[in-house]
Amino acid sequence: SRIPRIVILGAGYGGIVTAIRLQKELNYNEADVTLVNKHDYHYITTHLHMPAAGTDKPENARVDILKLIDEFKVDFVKSTVTQIRPHEKKVILEDGTLSYDYLVVGLGGEPETFGIPGLKEHALNIRSINSVRFIREHIEYQFAKYKREPDRKDYLTFVIGGAGFTGIEFIGELADRIPALCKEFDVDPELVKIYNIEAAPTALPGFDPELVAYAMDVLEKKGITFKIGTAIKECTPEGVLVAGDEFIKAGTIIWTGGIRGNHMLDEAGFETMRGRIKVSEFLRSPQFDNIYIVGDCSIVMNDEGRPFPPTAQIATQQGEVCAYNLIASIRNTEPKTFKFTNKGVVASLGKRQAIGVVGSRKLKGNTAAMMKKIVDMRYLYIIGGIPLVIRKGRF
Ligand code: FAD
Ligand code: NAD
Repeated sequence: SRIPRIVILGAGYGGIVTAIRLQKELNYNEADVTLVNKHDYHYITTHLHMPAAGTDKPENARVDILKLIDEFKVDFVKSTVTQIRPHEKKVILEDGTLSYDYLVVGLGGEPETFGIPGLKEHALNIRSINSVRFIREHIEYQFAKYKREPDRKDYLTFVIGGAGFTGIEFIGELADRIPALCKEFDVDPELVKIYNIEAAPTALPGFDPELVAYAMDVLEKKGITFKIGTAIKECTPEGVLVAGDEFIKAGTIIWTGGIRGNHMLDEAGFETMRGRIKVSEFLRSPQFDNIYIVGDCSIVMNDEGRPFPPTAQIATQQGEVCAYNLIASIRNTEPKTFKFTNKGVVASLGKRQAIGVVGSRKLKGNTAAMMKKIVDMRYLYIIGGIPLVIRKGRF
């Protein structure tokens, strides 16, 4: 009989772990595995706040896919997926078509702008190597422009919309970068303004209040101005309009106000919530038994019936179970129920500063920063073993 064909879309956390597990566990000729990704590298999304701020090189946040997969076992196709056709068991690429028996969707998230006018057009996002390279260059360009037009102090103003973990990690890095930028461009540091604007009554809504207060204190001392309980209502090329009708002029506007699933899932006719598919216990689409969804495109409910936040941690764990269940389908054995094990949350606040909750322990300061490095290195170890830890670890 014909060898079953598995196609994995996206080499992010969920997709790459699925591919790596499959290549390890599948026997010769048990399945044809194809991995499709837009770029020939995987990016370490959890490091992207650093190259975005310019405190690290973009190269350090990417890993060549061919260094992670064994080409004898997994076919890698560098292409952009443009359409999923679940009824025909096909995916359309920019330059071809692939048929599958089993599909894994791991295309990641997209910025959620909640229909706020101008945000999509005028705000920048931290979501890929290309986008963070753009942010870094944009920031330097603002400093250069200010030197030519010294009355335009707004070029030195930053607005970061949303104080979730992405916004908080980014401003920590940005604050660390400012002194070097000021020195390079001969700019008075007093002129630089960084606003982190958050609609909810607190930064990091839902996170431990004591650690949130600690984080805000650290960041305020580094020069960040928080505007909490202040929703962004509109964005223009010149700045943002916030609740209370205040207009903040800014040369750099970065939207970290939330993410949604990939738009192609709605277009393909899947039932979604903000572009994300609520998966079955086996990580399958409730509509199509042969389609698995992992990472930011999926929703897994916790015991209280609320979605777990979309993280690299859950995506990685899903990749393991997804691979297991694909093999179970092929071998006609029992699939495994996915159960998320929360190993904790640690977020960086810049150099040697972080906050975190691991088990019942609250961590802050340098201890938390060291924990963050361990968590990051553990992931590098999972996908690429010791060599990758040595090459890409940020010690
Ligand atoms: P992603 O990692 O989003 O990757 C998707 C992949 O699909 C990419 O390789 C992309 O190129 C590819 N792709 C997209 N569209 C197409 C297409 N049309 N065709 C082909 N390929 C395509 N989570 C944590 O748990 N811990 C953290 O410390 C943490 N830190 C973070 C820091 C930052 C700055 C950010 C932005 C996020 C952070 N997260 C963290 C969240 C985490 O990064 C995401 O939840 C995670 O990346 C989701 O993984 P994924 O498998 O859905 O795919
Ligand atoms: P998020 O959805 O967690 O946070 C977005 C924030 O923007 C929220 O606080 C929201 O209230 C605010 N917001 C929404 N609309 C707004 C408006 N109009 N004006 C002002 N503020 C507004 O998004 P995120 O921070 O990008 O995180 C995405 C996912 O990635 C989360 O699951 C997060 O846990 C995960 N993540 C984890 C880490 C880490 O563990 N270190 C780091 C980054 C991201």
